[in-house]
Amino acid sequence: MPGKHGKRGTNTVLTHSGYNPRDFYGFVNPPVVHASTVLYPDAHTLATRNQKYTYGTRGTPTTDALNQAMNELEGAAGSLVVPSGLAAVTIPLLAFLSSGDHLLITDAVYGPTRQFCDGMLSRMGVEVEYYDPLIGAGISKLMKPNTRVVFTESPGSNTFEIQDIPAIANAAHAGGAVVMMDNSWATPLYFRALDFGVDISIHAATKYIAGHSDILAGTISANAATWERLEKAYQQLGCCSGPDDVYYTLRGLRTLGVRLEAHRKNALEIARWLHTQPGVDSVLHPALEDFPGHALWKRDFNGSSGLFSIVLDGGGKEKAHAFLDALEIFGMGYSWGGYDSLAVRVYLEDRKASRTDYAGTLIRLQIGLEDVEDLKADLARGLEAAVNA
Ligand SMILES: *Cc1c(COP(=O)(O)O)cnc(C)c1O
Repeated sequence: MPGKHGKRGTNTVLTHSGYNPRDFYGFVNPPVVHASTVLYPDAHTLATRNQKYTYGTRGTPTTDALNQAMNELEGAAGSLVVPSGLAAVTIPLLAFLSSGDHLLITDAVYGPTRQFCDGMLSRMGVEVEYYDPLIGAGISKLMKPNTRVVFTESPGSNTFEIQDIPAIANAAHAGGAVVMMDNSWATPLYFRALDFGVDISIHAATKYIAGHSDILAGTISANAATWERLEKAYQQLGCCSGPDDVYYTLRGLRTLGVRLEAHRKNALEIARWLHTQPGVDSVLHPALEDFPGHALWKRDFNGSSGLFSIVLDGGGKEKAHAFLDALEIFGMGYSWGGYDSLAVRVYLEDRKASRTDYAGTLIRLQIGLEDVEDLKADLARGLEAAVNA
């Protein structure tokens, strides 16, 4: 459950950070600044660029408000907003990796992140190595003199392995590497990545932060040791977001606390119930006591969000398709973190360094803000269809 962020409670920080009404004639929200050109008052200022705003790509009152809020939530030296969660992954990797460098990346990583590493990074001469998400301090054995970045994502995409982030960060720092984390599942409310040794915390703000299935956005928050280099790369790449998306991301952030608590509660109740249902082999949810990563989750996280997977009792495509086709409230579609419940089949064919020997097909569930009893009835329909398939 969200606790404190510094002296103030988390919900107060969410509502009052990046909040500067006196700068905007008293209006509580920042203006949505559509901007390329910024004028300078005289030739001397034009030559020195010595004023707060200098060009649309270099920040506006709208991006400042969101970035300030993210700085406070993450305890970061600097934050950036970018056009998608995937851009929030690729920009830090491009900022820190060069030809000849070695990248260690968790095998339970978000699929498009893997495609970027296997595609563009490999083509540019970066040596990409996948490690078991459960490796913990053992990662020190994989560190090489040229290991520049250790990339984490916890819980892992689709299979929800909890990583021992402090142990991994210690080993990575001992070898001189920068630690990045895709922290989208927990948000800064349930995991303050920088407090656990992560240098750069990444969010697909498309998910819980924007929260309404209508925006693509990413945020990147960096500590003092990595901020300058990250910011320089961001400027060189020109990956700035449009003002409306930035505004809607900030608007979503204001209500993140109450929404996430509802996702947490609904999802946990449904996960516990699914655990007892025929047709379900197991439930991959970090807050369930018998989940393998539960103890680590309990040690480090403040809560569990609304995304988890179930392992169907056997079956391949037939059972999975029967389950999905019987659902009436859950939509079949990618992404998560919005108000609506979603279900997709999980494929693990690309995994190289983590377990894939589950007893049946995996289905990933995003639990939305609907009434729990309706969602249970819908899932019961799916399970009945799967059992009979
Ligand atoms: C969705 C997702 C992303 C990418 O976000 P987009 O805004 O869709 O590009 C990154 N990481 C994780 C874990 C995600 O689930």
